Amino acid sequence: MNIVRYRSLPAPVHRRQPLQNKRLPSVDDAVLAECPDEPMYCLRPQIFKALATRFTKLFPGDVLYAVKCNPEQAVLRSLWKGGLRHFDAASLNEVALVRGLLPGAIIHFMHPVKTRSAIRTAYDRYGVRDFVLDTVDELDKIIEETHGARDLGLVVRLALPKGNAVYDLSGKFGASPGDAAVLLQSCRRVAARVGLSFHVGSQCLDPTAYERALALAGSVLADADVAIDMLDVGGGFPVSYPDEVPPPLDDFIAAIARGVSALDLPAHCRLWCEPGRALVAPGQSVVVRVVARKGGALYVNDGIYGALSDAGPAVGFRFPVRLIRTDGGVHDGELRAFEFFGPTCDSADRMKGPFLLPADAKEGDWIEIGQLGAYGTALRTGFNGFDQACLVEVEDRPLLETPGYLSAAMQAA
Ligand SMILES: *Cc1c(COP(=O)(O)O)cnc(C)c1O
Repeated sequence: MNIVRYRSLPAPVHRRQPLQNKRLPSVDDAVLAECPDEPMYCLRPQIFKALATRFTKLFPGDVLYAVKCNPEQAVLRSLWKGGLRHFDAASLNEVALVRGLLPGAIIHFMHPVKTRSAIRTAYDRYGVRDFVLDTVDELDKIIEETHGARDLGLVVRLALPKGNAVYDLSGKFGASPGDAAVLLQSCRRVAARVGLSFHVGSQCLDPTAYERALALAGSVLADADVAIDMLDVGGGFPVSYPDEVPPPLDDFIAAIARGVSALDLPAHCRLWCEPGRALVAPGQSVVVRVVARKGGALYVNDGIYGALSDAGPAVGFRFPVRLIRTDGGVHDGELRAFEFFGPTCDSADRMKGPFLLPADAKEGDWIEIGQLGAYGTALRTGFNGFDQACLVEVEDRPLLETPGYLSAAMQAA
């Protein structure tokens, strides 16, 4: 059976054990076979593959997968099988992981602040040519560490005003419009290819956010008077959660097309995007076990220091849930709202939900929590000794689907 136990999580991503390719038909089968007392992470490789195929088909340019979202080897391989060829790495470990697994991958180093050794090693050892930057100091670093290489692709990250995505990403990275224009000119003098990028924020529910960002990018390009070779509209594409059904992917693609057509881009300019969440969230569930119940509170074996940090106080996502009971099959009795507590001793290890589950949920039951392919396992810690988990591959449908993201063939499967 295809189960890998980690002695300790998180391991450095490049040292993780590869999965064997045996699969179980469904999450229920995996629970029956394993009766897992530790969290069980269920990967759906065919969903990652279908999402990659769908996204690369719809997007009029290059799709870079943001590796940080889920660096599991099975995930990277499935996206590759779906036709995805470009990877957005943010650390040297991610660069090495992708290069080791997928020798033909095109890797872009999209973190605007890098150590000198990371730049040097990415360029020399791993064949990375594209680097993001948002200051002139970073530009100098890249030029020095690549010894004035003539084959660089340099992408200037533009800061955006605070938007209305669920996660605002405006605070940390990005040059102001004025600085970005000057940086573009400096990059043009030394780089083989020059680009401009931004990120509208993660789980962005408003397609027009991309149009507004593109208009700002257009004003920077007009000021800089620089011909760019790539324009990167970033990530942020949303998925469904129980209280949130986003507009379909086509609406975002259409908004980007409108925004781009209003710009006066050189004919050869490539469009890039960097989705993370939208490519992987539906492809993984976490199965937790109920260790104790106190009224409306279920004490479960994974929490905010495990794969459920986005369900915790900081973000408070309500993930889709489903009760699994191996003696009596699936329950569809009367539902009630529960909150979850994670296994650690920290009182912040609490997930308010509300999570709707059969009212008789009890100790020993399992709960499948869906949409955790993005920013789930990737954020695990070993805090408080809760560092064990197992990983299985399954073939059933995701708990929740986002309109317009899977192909018609996949929907019918
Ligand atoms: C995290 C990140 C992404 C992916 O964002 P999603 O909202 O998950 O699509 C893309 N680009 C950059 C630079 C990021 O930091």
